[in-house]
Amino acid sequence: MPEQHWEYVAVAGKRNGKPNFPPLNREQQKLIPAFDDALNVAAQSEVSHPIYSGYRVKESISGLPAGNISYGKKRALHGEEVAVANIYSKEGIVSASELPLILRNIATYNPAIALPKIIPNLILAIIAHDPDGMAKPCGNCLDLLRDKLGRSLNVVFGASGGGEAKVAKLGDFLFEVGREHRISLRAREGPNLIATLAGQTFSEGTRLTDDAYVSKAEALSRNYNALVVTNKGKYYGGYECLCDYHPIYAGRDAIRQARRAHDYFLRYALFTAPGPGNNPPDIMYMDRQHLMEYALIGDLETGREGDKPVYLASIDPQRKAVTGLWQTSVREFLPFPFSPINFGEEFVSHFKEYYRRRKRF
Ligand SMILES: [Zn+2]
Repeated sequence: MPEQHWEYVAVAGKRNGKPNFPPLNREQQKLIPAFDDALNVAAQSEVSHPIYSGYRVKESISGLPAGNISYGKKRALHGEEVAVANIYSKEGIVSASELPLILRNIATYNPAIALPKIIPNLILAIIAHDPDGMAKPCGNCLDLLRDKLGRSLNVVFGASGGGEAKVAKLGDFLFEVGREHRISLRAREGPNLIATLAGQTFSEGTRLTDDAYVSKAEALSRNYNALVVTNKGKYYGGYECLCDYHPIYAGRDAIRQARRAHDYFLRYALFTAPGPGNNPPDIMYMDRQHLMEYALIGDLETGREGDKPVYLASIDPQRKAVTGLWQTSVREFLPFPFSPINFGEEFVSHFKEYYRRRKRF
């Protein structure tokens, strides 16, 4: 395949719910030859082996090809997972930027964990399939990339044959709950209702948690429990980890309960974690992914693009009292979601009809 060149625009978050694509800044312009190289390696990558989905993802990192590899029953190593493994095998433990405080604290706490060496201008290239030309890493891959390569990782995506390509930082795909999301304990769902539910979520989630493999190097804010509230019921979730270390997170556990009841109309979700109230629970992007996809089922059924609240509460574990409360929403929580919509209109029609039929069972 001949070497291709792309025309680049940047991704600068969303304005009025739509992505905004300004010209590259000066720092990004200097990297254009490196973006071209990265996309060329991705375009020529032959790593991808998507036997179930046929959804071929071609990627590269630091000159190394990557891609998605299916196995088991519709399970896959995603291209980003292969990319991280590839660069670790070539360079050792690296990051594109300082890791978040939470991870540095873990590394300090557990001397067996080495801190990464920082490689500036690290580029992950993805050949994009989306109609809008945006490649959207899934929740699991966002968890991996933010912990292992950091927010400053450059992500470039374009079609294999050239044309327009987009440049973002990993941080553009992430959403961190800030001070502006802090709310009074008297949340709008009614005086003290959320605070009461947060206490119950902590107790129920702790009861549901199944984890014999507790690690010393854990951040309390990631030890969260979940509650999904629908028009019909309440579903609690706890963390489950077995020795293969492929855990089910608490959000997914709660959503599984709602799915089993064929109850698809989310009103809001609530997550709780122990803490003094300085920081909200740190919800894994994989759980944000499950929450978005679950909420989408209800939205497609009603034909209304609703955006449901997500409450985050830190809890004093002894008193089960709320020490801090924050509010965001399903859409804000995952700014550029990888969702059924990525597979095109025909798939979305099938997806909608599938859940309609399923509800009748
Ligand atoms: Zn992924």
